[in-house]
Amino acid sequence: MFDAIVVGGGASGLYTALCLSHCYARVALLTKDNLSISASDWAQGGIAAVVDPTDSPQLHYEDTLRAGVGLCEPEAVSVLVHGARAQIETLVDLGVAFDRHRDQTLALTLEAAHSRRRVLHAADATGRALVSTLADHVGKNARIEVLEQFLVLDLILEDGRCMGVWGLDLRSPTTGVRALWAPVTVLATGGGAQVFAQNTNPPASTGDGVAIAWRAGAAIRDLEFVQFHPTALAVPGAPRFLISEAVRGEGAHLVDRTGDRFVFRDHPQGELAPRDVVSRSVFHHLEATGAKTVFLDLSPIAPDRIAYRFPNIIHICQQWRIDLYSQPIPVTPAAHYCMGGIATDVWGATSVPGLYAVGESASTGVHGANRLASNSLLECFVFGSRLAAHLAEVEPSHGRRGVDPGTAPHWPAPSPETTGALNQLKYDLQELVWHHAGICRHGDHLREGLEWCSSGDRTSP
Ligand SMILES: Cc1cc2nc3c(=O)[nH]c(=O)nc-3n(C[C@H](O)[C@H](O)[C@H](O)COP(=O)(O)OP(=O)(O)OC[C@H]3O[C@@H](n4cnc5c(N)ncnc54)[C@H](O)[C@@H]3O)c2cc1C
Repeated sequence: MFDAIVVGGGASGLYTALCLSHCYARVALLTKDNLSISASDWAQGGIAAVVDPTDSPQLHYEDTLRAGVGLCEPEAVSVLVHGARAQIETLVDLGVAFDRHRDQTLALTLEAAHSRRRVLHAADATGRALVSTLADHVGKNARIEVLEQFLVLDLILEDGRCMGVWGLDLRSPTTGVRALWAPVTVLATGGGAQVFAQNTNPPASTGDGVAIAWRAGAAIRDLEFVQFHPTALAVPGAPRFLISEAVRGEGAHLVDRTGDRFVFRDHPQGELAPRDVVSRSVFHHLEATGAKTVFLDLSPIAPDRIAYRFPNIIHICQQWRIDLYSQPIPVTPAAHYCMGGIATDVWGATSVPGLYAVGESASTGVHGANRLASNSLLECFVFGSRLAAHLAEVEPSHGRRGVDPGTAPHWPAPSPETTGALNQLKYDLQELVWHHAGICRHGDHLREGLEWCSSGDRTSP
């Protein structure tokens, strides 16, 4: 029996577990992979926060609402932008090494749709700097028990209240499904952009938390709002590695093969317009010209600046024989981030008692229809710390113990034949969702896709 179970070992899970350890003696942190693999670890550009005296939370608030196309929840956005600075101070205290100027002030970069330079970073591997520091603290924390390779399958429900999780220890799957008990369960399972054939996400981003919460009857919100990043590496055979928006923030141009900065025809901010605008602009330009990719031209950025800011991107491009000092990088849009998810209030509570959600799996309404760049890492910390503070008040101690969870659900181990069929189904579904519910959607396409999903005939769409 734990006081709290946190499902997910990305930024939101690690941070929430650390915050919960201040009020609970036994916190379980579960991840289906290991702590060094998550979208958080892959985050490049940085984390948005107002730390510059010439900036203000009001400007950050307005930029977030504008990028969210009028569909953000204003209260949640206010919580986010006003809570940012305190979280950055905590992260610095924990030892996160953000880049700094010579005078030791925090270095800030610009990203799309921000009216100020307000994105803190650690070169182009900000996520790794955050996750490694947090994982280090979690590993040393005697109140947190980490179970890696533990796949959560479903929630244990007792009279409509969540009382823990059912899961499978992937290191010894033959032991069958196990029950882990806790009066508080936090889903921090990340996004689900893997449902699209072209995506920037790690393999673990399969939207498990949303499915688990939905099966338990929790309210789900805004799943149709998916963010497509305009600049994923587009080289035949290469995964859709993200080329961070900070590259454009530092001055790179988005051009076609003739050097035309075509996005300016769609938006006065050109390549620094909000992501949804730039992705749609690229999509339409590719359709109109028949080209396969557009390009990021880094020649406006000084070579020593490129070397200092983007060592990871340089390394990946070299692997695919692109010398970004002398060649433009071929890019196309790819699915990147899920704005929707498990509906929560501004304290992380879902519609199911005992169940909470945080990070990309949650939908506080903070991102509206289009997330402002670098607000997602910030969300993990602001809402993770609030969730813990809230629980310390409303669930300070637990006398509550679960009754017998009954028989564990039967999750049959897949046979070689079913594994093959499942892999094919997964591939077909990814292609279907990419082509029928991708960057630009039409009623006919959506209907065709739905028909394929609901038909018994599973021949490739
Ligand atoms: C390439 C890339 C670059 C990005 N760059 C930035 C950036 O610069 N700035 C920014 O703000 N955002 C960025 N983002 C978005 C941001 O990284 C994510 O939104 C954020 O990190 C999500 O954190 P999370 O903790 O909610 O989820 P994740 O980091 O995705 O972690 C999810 C965790 O849940 C676990 N899990 C999932 N399902 C189960 C299950 N069934 N059982 C057990 N465990 C499970 C996974 O193993 C993983 O540990 C980027 C995303 C990507 C993919």
